Amino acid sequence: MRRFSYHQHEVINCFKENNPVINKKLRKVSVDEGLHIAKDLLNILAERKDGIGLAANQVGIDANVAVVNVREPLILINPVITEQWDEIEYYEGCLSFPKKGIHTKRYRNVIIQTEQEESGWYFSGVETTQDVKGNWEQKGKDEDQELRLLETICVQHEIDHLNGMTIMDRENKPKPIVRKKSLIPTKILNTKKQNHY
Ligand SMILES: [Zn+2]
Repeated sequence: MRRFSYHQHEVINCFKENNPVINKKLRKVSVDEGLHIAKDLLNILAERKDGIGLAANQVGIDANVAVVNVREPLILINPVITEQWDEIEYYEGCLSFPKKGIHTKRYRNVIIQTEQEESGWYFSGVETTQDVKGNWEQKGKDEDQELRLLETICVQHEIDHLNGMTIMDRENKPKPIVRKKSLIPTKILNTKKQNHY
């Protein structure tokens, strides 16, 4: 019997192994079950130290639970985004797809409902317009601002997982550059007309 029995779950690397629940819309759970699983997920994150959020299906569990740990540990049980606005582009990674970065479209503001809270949770990465007194405070404010935005993005990333979506489905591909036909040179320029420096 191992002292730390929670080590039984690990994040499945989807590049190397099949994860049968990674693209599944996960099963709704009770608050009790959700809290129990969330505790495991937070332990896994604390152990790894390289993640800021984790959804149950990333470790092979079919349960609508995820955790976010950017500014403080947050537990999302059967979460639903009820409002989102102010679209932004972001660059994300995922523990399920190691070393892969993806450009995505997200929102600066989201309001979510979770099973254990009656009121909605509001996440916002919008810049505040409060006056600041000095450089040190400005630096602290900037860092806090960055973390708030990261937390807001992370919440969206984890809720995607619970709906069976990953960053691989969210890729914000740049529009292909379409050349106008008239811009393509049709004959070789007369070299005598070229300028030489
Ligand atoms: Zn992920």
